[in-house]
Amino acid sequence: MLYYCIIGAVIALWLTGIVCRHIRGRRKMIRVIEDNCTGCTKCLKICRRNVLEAVKDENGTHIAVKNPYNCTACSNCVKACKFKALELYSLRNRKDD
Ligand code: SF4
Ligand code: SF4
Repeated sequence: MLYYCIIGAVIALWLTGIVCRHIRGRRKMIRVIEDNCTGCTKCLKICRRNVLEAVKDENGTHIAVKNPYNCTACSNCVKACKFKALELYSLRNRKDD
């Protein structure tokens, strides 16, 4: 019986995490402040959702948002970026941006 309770609790926590990430991702979105990006690609290695991509052009390498709707707004990439080149913005204030 205890075994089933533990399994049930683990599954409930796992599902709660999925729902929370989904809700958070619908409220916020990641964007790149291109002038600050050095192209170090540290954020690419941090993000596990395939949201970001490295783009090469005449100005060198910089980061672009490839799959914005995959973003769960976890902010791991924002914390990893030492150049303040990434930020999460609220989708509710989109008209004010
Ligand atoms: S970690 Fe920051 S500076 Fe480095 S590539 Fe990502 S956005 Fe650009
Ligand atoms: S906030 Fe999280 S999911 Fe979104 S791009 Fe950054 S690391 Fe990826």
